[in-house]
Amino acid sequence: MNVPFLDLKAHHAPIRDEIFDAISEVVNDSAFAGGKYVEKFEKEWAAYCGVGHAVGVSNGTESLSLILRALGIGTGDEVIVPAMTFVATAEAVSHVGATPVFVDIDPWTHTMDPSKLENVITERTRAIIPVHIFGQCADMNAIGEVAGSHKGLQLHVIEDAAQAHGAIYKGRKAGSLSYAASFSFYPGKNMGAWGEAGAATTSNPFLAAKIRLLREHGSAKKYHHEIVGFNARMDGIQAAVLSVKLKYLDINNDKRRAIAREYARLLSDPIAQLFAAGTYSSPAYHVYAHRVPNRDTVLAHMAAQGVTCGIHYPVPVHLQPAYAYLGYKAGAFPVAEACANEFLSLPMYPELTDAQLAHVVSSLKAGLS
Ligand SMILES: *Cc1c(COP(=O)(O)O)cnc(C)c1O
Repeated sequence: MNVPFLDLKAHHAPIRDEIFDAISEVVNDSAFAGGKYVEKFEKEWAAYCGVGHAVGVSNGTESLSLILRALGIGTGDEVIVPAMTFVATAEAVSHVGATPVFVDIDPWTHTMDPSKLENVITERTRAIIPVHIFGQCADMNAIGEVAGSHKGLQLHVIEDAAQAHGAIYKGRKAGSLSYAASFSFYPGKNMGAWGEAGAATTSNPFLAAKIRLLREHGSAKKYHHEIVGFNARMDGIQAAVLSVKLKYLDINNDKRRAIAREYARLLSDPIAQLFAAGTYSSPAYHVYAHRVPNRDTVLAHMAAQGVTCGIHYPVPVHLQPAYAYLGYKAGAFPVAEACANEFLSLPMYPELTDAQLAHVVSSLKAGLS
């Protein structure tokens, strides 16, 4: 039996025609770059997340850097990010000229460890970017408390919610848990476009307006440029695709949650069982990462059984060559480094069948023994 890591074909089969119809409308209106379909999706996404504003942009890396720019963060500033994340979290900080400062993750949630923040806050710290890694929300209340205790610094907390569409933390949706949040709609994410797209969410109307200005060449009125901006608009076609996808997001996340509960039960994984129970939060399970000691052996065994797994992520960001200039050494962040060596991402998508799931678990168990 073959179990792919992700099956976008199966994901799109039932909604293909609906999406093609939506795209046709955009083509009929020639509303390709920004425009009314983007505005429509922005309203829907803001309402879904429970925030005042969503701004559709070209991708999730850009939405994060536009938020930082809109907050005036740049050269000489420091921004705290977790060591275990996709590189884009740190890249966005670099793009605005600021310095990423890494912090270890918590061994239970795999998100930024709030107890480690105090050690890395300096008078240059301007923002903290918790990442809802794998769709598991960071401990936003604890992080917010640390940020709030530094009154003189005006520390902004910004969620990187690129993997957390529809994830819930203490009754509230990812994207509404901080001053501003960034989403990616990269095709493989829980809510993926048919190309590249992203969005920033915030309930601050001034911040939203600033991000809008920045994404559109610094102009609110055509050919009148208030600031030096960028071209970071969302495509109308992507917005139309996303409006269709949004209708199915909760159903699909619930299927992911059911799969996660089943994995946790069959693998007797105490951490996974805790989160699958939904006590701390209700994750969106973008990735189901299981820690295994002998990963290479297990991966090879599972591949031989037709099961494709992923590794998110094999090298923590502080040890990437791109960030060597910051001088971090192996051993700096033991939890992130152990996870990088042991994380194995099991196939996780709403279309995964019961038989496939059983095959994943039996091949994993055989590989471990
Ligand atoms: C995907 C992702 C991004 C970047 O999004 P793009 O749309 O690919 O630019 C940022 N942060 C995290 C955690 C991601 O997973």
